[in-house]
Amino acid sequence: MHDPIDFEAMPITELFGCNCFSNAVMREWLPKTTYNELLAVQAGEKEMALSVADVVADAMKAWAIEKGATHFTHWFHPLTGLTAEKHDSFIAPTGDGKVLMEFSGKELIKGESDASSFPSGGLRATFEARGYTAWDVTSPAFLKQDSIGTTLCIPTAFFSYYGHALDKKVPLLRSMDSLNKQAMRILRALGNGTTKRIITTVGPEQEYFLVDKKYFDERPDLMLTGRTVFGSMPAKGQEMEDHYYGAINARVAAFMRELNAELWKMGVTAKTQHNEVAPNQFELAPIFSMTNVAVDANQLAMETIKKVANRHGMEALLHEKPFAGVNGSGKHNNWSLATDDGLNLLEPGENPDSNARFLLFITAIVEAVDRYAPLLRASAAIAGNDHRLGANEAPPAIISVFFGDQLSDILERIVDGKAHSAKGSHTIELGVTSIPTLPIDISDRNRTSPFAFTGNKFEFRMVGSSQSIATPNTYLNTAVADVLSEFADKLESANDRIAVIQDIIRESYSKHRRVVFNGNGYSDEWLKEAERRGLPNIRSTVDALPVLLQKETIELFERHKVLSRAEAESRFHIYLEKYSKQINIEAGVMIDMSKRMLFPAIGAFAASLARDSGSLAAIGASSAALEKRARRLAELSGEVYDETDRLEKALLEAQEPDEAFSQAKAYRDRVVPQMAALRAKVDAAEKLVEKKYWPLPTYEELLFKL
Ligand code: ADP
Ligand code: MG
Repeated sequence: MHDPIDFEAMPITELFGCNCFSNAVMREWLPKTTYNELLAVQAGEKEMALSVADVVADAMKAWAIEKGATHFTHWFHPLTGLTAEKHDSFIAPTGDGKVLMEFSGKELIKGESDASSFPSGGLRATFEARGYTAWDVTSPAFLKQDSIGTTLCIPTAFFSYYGHALDKKVPLLRSMDSLNKQAMRILRALGNGTTKRIITTVGPEQEYFLVDKKYFDERPDLMLTGRTVFGSMPAKGQEMEDHYYGAINARVAAFMRELNAELWKMGVTAKTQHNEVAPNQFELAPIFSMTNVAVDANQLAMETIKKVANRHGMEALLHEKPFAGVNGSGKHNNWSLATDDGLNLLEPGENPDSNARFLLFITAIVEAVDRYAPLLRASAAIAGNDHRLGANEAPPAIISVFFGDQLSDILERIVDGKAHSAKGSHTIELGVTSIPTLPIDISDRNRTSPFAFTGNKFEFRMVGSSQSIATPNTYLNTAVADVLSEFADKLESANDRIAVIQDIIRESYSKHRRVVFNGNGYSDEWLKEAERRGLPNIRSTVDALPVLLQKETIELFERHKVLSRAEAESRFHIYLEKYSKQINIEAGVMIDMSKRMLFPAIGAFAASLARDSGSLAAIGASSAALEKRARRLAELSGEVYDETDRLEKALLEAQEPDEAFSQAKAYRDRVVPQMAALRAKVDAAEKLVEKKYWPLPTYEELLFKL
């Protein structure tokens, strides 16, 4: 067991951020003029001058070396959804057999690396394999400490020689710019002259499972695919819901304590932790921050969860569906808009002006979610999430918005031209029209909606637990920016702005309220109702991704300079290929485990029963039960053999097509169902085979022992 952290000797206020080159640290380490320059660069008012970068790099180097750093790395988010880093040491030979520690402004702000092994979706010919990384100045550099030593990590964006985005950060930053621009137009049109900048804020709730490492190591499926491809449910699942918010077990508590400390050191605001619904499932939520910082922090959190779990003899599973039969893991993406002068634009206000603003923004969001529902759905489309969305699990694949009755009622009344809001709150006249005052606690709780308003933010619940949150936020920001730009056009050209606000809300909400649904999103009635309303129900990754190629999508991205056509197309191909590869690995692991571990085990146990039954018969005892069981297992072993054979054939067929889309379709239509068929036979056999013959740790061990 690892040393417990002594928070008395090292108070959290000192520990927090001690490995983060935050603005507070920069203020200490940089000359005042440089620090102010940097603030201006962070605010987007200026470009970083090389002379400034040199001074920052020097301070960063001194700070990092003082803390034991030997290397630096440009840390980035390639399209694999993971993070990547290439380490360079600070050493520079002096020519006389000695070295200096060097780190220049150029090295800080721009890196160059051979990027040919990262997916580019055809954007980068192999002969032009160079990729560049550029410092994202708004996300602080930090130190990572592990067995390699201490490394200075500089959060960067990754692009090609021709400026194409090769990562998830570049489009995210572009989408934040676009949203800032359009939302600022709205604020200005509403008469706000003081706000300078609008950012999107995000707080992602990360779910994960923990399993004992000794069991994990005996499961090739967990090791190679992150999920169990076989495994029958024990008598107890999650039906008692006794794990949810339950007392945290001692081993997990020690892990969480260390996890928090590790994250706090790097300046990640780990805040909430608790047991989740499924056994051995947990959640970690940070305090929200600016989106790009939240994206970096979440990647760090995922990496650190795995690392710290290992130190405690456990393995963390970030897969969306590690176990059949119990809940999977998601990542609730809490999202809002904030101004540089401290306003949350999704906070219902206290006066008519702020109410009008609030209602305008939420109306825009409803419209964006309705118009671009397929795009939002695509942002959560990965193989692992196919087990959740549209399968028998939450949330449904249909995108809807939850508002709660009060807020929906207010919007409905505006549409109907009735100004009075429900529940007794008085209305306030706004010129000829009226916008109601809003009750303080405006939203109820709803856990079944994929896009729920939760009082002062929206919670997008479709995102998968293993995913980078960059893409969901990129699409969301862009969709909202698009609607805001149309609202802004109308507002800016209006004579009577107050009247126009009402018109905009009425027109938009009456057209898009079909996406608002306050009921139970898991019910069958909702499926029917949604179909009647014409809402798309996109069940699989393969069906979801093609939206990236649609004309409206590409025009949307181009209008806001978030992705070019070539960039969008390349992403479509990369994501599809990733899907196919993942299914290919899972099916391959199944075949291998079936042939080399499970088929032999079933056969061996059947044979042993047969032998035992022979021995019993020899003494004239009844052997009927043993015989019956042996026959049943022999039968199952034949079925396992046949289904494995079919899976092998399906896999070969799926590997055939050259074209990415046909290939992914073949995986979904041929391979995935055949995987289920094989699994059903194996899981049935597992229930009948004596434990000591079964070569895999069981669900009971994986889910209930820690
Ligand atoms: P719950 O599970 O009840 O939804 P949690 O406390 O687990 O809530 O998580 C809520 C998340 O929402 C936290 O990460 C929190 O920081 C984040 N959040 C709160 N306010 C905002 C906001 N204005 N913008 C973005 N995220 C927010
Ligand atoms: Mg939560």
